[in-house]
Amino acid sequence: MDFYVDVVLPIPLERFFTYSITSGEASFLKRGMRVAVPFGKSKIYTALVFEIHQNQPKVYEAKEIHQILDEVPLVTEIQLKHWQWIASYYMCTLGEVMRSALPSAFLLESETLILPGNSEDIVEEGLSDNEFLILEALRHQSSLKIQEAAAILDRKHVLPIVQKMMEKGLVRLKEELYELYRPKMEKYVRLAKGYQDEENLEPLLTELSRAKKQSQAVLSFFQLQSGQKKLIKLKQLEELSGSSRPVIKALADKGIFEIYELQIDRVHFESNSLKAEDIVLNRMQAKAFESIAESFSQHKVCLLHGVTSSGKTEVYIKLIQNVITSGGQVLYLLPEIALTSQLINRLKAYFGNQVAVYHSKYSLNERVEVWNNTLRASEKAKVIIGARSSLFLPFASLRLVIVDEEHEASFKQFDPAPRYHARDAAVVLAQLHKVNCLLGSATPSVESYSNVKHGKYGLAEMPRRYGDVLMPEIELVDIKEATRKKRMKGHFSERLMEEMTTSLDEGEQIILFQNRRGFAPIVECTTCGHASQCPNCDVSLTYHQHRNQLRCHYCGYHIPVLKSCQACGSNTLDTKGFGTEQLQEELLRLFPDANVARMDLDTTRGKYAYEKIIGAFEHHETDILVGTQMVTKGLDFRNVGLVGIMNADSLLNFPDYRAHERSFQLMTQVAGRAGRTKKRGKVLIQSYNPYHQILHQVANYDYEKMFAEQLYEREQFKYPPHIRIIKIILKDRDYNKLNEAADWFASSLRNVLKTTVLGPEYPVVSRIRNEYLKHVLVKVGKNHPIVQTKNSIKRIEKSFNAIAQYKSIRLVYNVDHI
Ligand code: ADP
Ligand code: ZN
Ligand code: ZN
Repeated sequence: MDFYVDVVLPIPLERFFTYSITSGEASFLKRGMRVAVPFGKSKIYTALVFEIHQNQPKVYEAKEIHQILDEVPLVTEIQLKHWQWIASYYMCTLGEVMRSALPSAFLLESETLILPGNSEDIVEEGLSDNEFLILEALRHQSSLKIQEAAAILDRKHVLPIVQKMMEKGLVRLKEELYELYRPKMEKYVRLAKGYQDEENLEPLLTELSRAKKQSQAVLSFFQLQSGQKKLIKLKQLEELSGSSRPVIKALADKGIFEIYELQIDRVHFESNSLKAEDIVLNRMQAKAFESIAESFSQHKVCLLHGVTSSGKTEVYIKLIQNVITSGGQVLYLLPEIALTSQLINRLKAYFGNQVAVYHSKYSLNERVEVWNNTLRASEKAKVIIGARSSLFLPFASLRLVIVDEEHEASFKQFDPAPRYHARDAAVVLAQLHKVNCLLGSATPSVESYSNVKHGKYGLAEMPRRYGDVLMPEIELVDIKEATRKKRMKGHFSERLMEEMTTSLDEGEQIILFQNRRGFAPIVECTTCGHASQCPNCDVSLTYHQHRNQLRCHYCGYHIPVLKSCQACGSNTLDTKGFGTEQLQEELLRLFPDANVARMDLDTTRGKYAYEKIIGAFEHHETDILVGTQMVTKGLDFRNVGLVGIMNADSLLNFPDYRAHERSFQLMTQVAGRAGRTKKRGKVLIQSYNPYHQILHQVANYDYEKMFAEQLYEREQFKYPPHIRIIKIILKDRDYNKLNEAADWFASSLRNVLKTTVLGPEYPVVSRIRNEYLKHVLVKVGKNHPIVQTKNSIKRIEKSFNAIAQYKSIRLVYNVDHI
């Protein structure tokens, strides 16, 4: 009897591939294990076992597998089902889902590049011969392909050896080039054992009576200690006592003080220092908790609509606690950008080492560890908190899925395939595991809220802030008038300047929001109106003052800033519009005494860059934080009295059917950063059109009205959630060919589908990296069979691919595109 195995390869081909195996292998292999297989002439891939059977393939001769890579399945049955759902719903291949889902360390292949590891003190005795040979080779060559490693070791099967070396840190994979940063440390002072009681103060002071400065330092220490229960910084002590470092050092040498270091972002919460049992939910929270339980008992997804600072996290913590005491796992999904050490520390304070974090800025090894711990249901992975890709983990005992900030657009993966929406895929994941799912937001998406209205989801509400702190007062500022009367200072209205001055005088901090990074979007000639364009893309270049460059945000093309206009030669170049960088510069002039920091994509590239900026703001080392979207995301700052939204119009006028919903969400979320404790916060929104209905809905916290209006408009103009949209994107370098192909595709769709087909049309940016783009939109009614529609589209694709001259055209599907 011959045995065969169908495997999934991590490539965008629709079908499974069949290899031959021995009967021994057949009885050992299980679905979800990995095998190394040959592919094409000389490639080796890591593939996933899908099915074992005895049907010889008809059209080709099955090759043998190289090697089995796992002893137990790496991927569970439920995962496979979930991946299949994603592949079919989002119209991509199972192989593409697999490539996205598995950490690349699990997907070694012949082309993978390996580099030497970071560890400097490799002990040569501990190395196996093979490991030694590879390290030796890496001493002479900066990198090796897996194939080359195989040649050096003179054996075919090297993947397990390389993987082991990676786990030991002896080698790294090429893509793992993240920035190495040592977290900032702070020096603290405490009293040595034996001096900690007040009783010992007297004898100590007597002992020090001749060392005036030293006794002063000790007195200051006690003063600090009685005033606050927190840890005491060395800096603080130096300031209060007026003593220099050598004085304190001398005390340390005498064994009276101890100086020690802590990592800054670890300081706030000691791990495991808090107990979930000790959280007392207030009445509003308790009521929401009951509504959640009620939804869950009806097996419904529940939407928690709680205003900013209503205490949603505390409710989550209670729910998580219930799950893990009964032995289950919790998945806590967040948008990448809201996944801050602030929140992680907060959860660690309750659940300590049971919290595992999973996201793309983590190294491959860290990700492999979380994967394995999740699969083994280890104590270290009871609460898995992560960005969208964490929903691909191999949950062994999942009991609850929480999707926080469920309205966030960044839950949708844009590129590459699978172009999935993590919230929706999470709902399906919970269904497959038959467990509960909670979506949380202060500004729910129109989709989710309409699911509530239709009775599909349950609802829990928390309409007030915790501790009855008032929602910030929102004021709309008309800058049209002010601009006309030339009463703006840069981009600051008089009102905003006034409020900022007051806040700074009162020692409060300020957040300024501008939805654009860079200095000014474009540099325009005031004589002829010419603006420099990217030669590869259909966009103007963006001005970056810091590097004195014009840059393309799509392809990275850049040139030095021009002195004169390329079109007419005049030197009347001026910046139009403005970004975060320009605001930062204006602030230096307007508020020279204030410390200003900026948070946007440009300032947060490294692994800890984001944390550094947030840390500095939390410790009040910065007074004003200027930022893009990033400042809107779930940050909990105690001392922010004022939030300024610099220009609401650029949000409202964005050409997209979701622009109004998004503007409402963004502005409400930024506003929510103000006045989270004690005093009522203030928010100023600058706009050329302060009569816009969305601005009034934001100012009045009128979510219901926004929702009702938006839903009505979407019904009128046929947009989601009323219908579904499948966006088909065609790309090619040849403009004419693309046009012809897009017409062919669209008219075929029109012939076959019994539903609305729009386009082909050029998108707002119609050329990227020298490729032209064209879109076709398929609108599918909610009662229309979506599966059939997708199958029809796939059939049209087959005919399309059979046309020789369209071979070069690339086709991309984006289901539920947003
Ligand atoms: P949200 O996530 O809804 O914006 P948070 O969970 O950050 O709100 O809560 C706002 C503040 O109120 C936090 O500082 C939180 O610790 C506090 N808080 C909320 N609920 C409770 C509670 N039941 N007991 C004590 N403090 C609470
Ligand atoms: Zn010009
Ligand atoms: Zn470009």
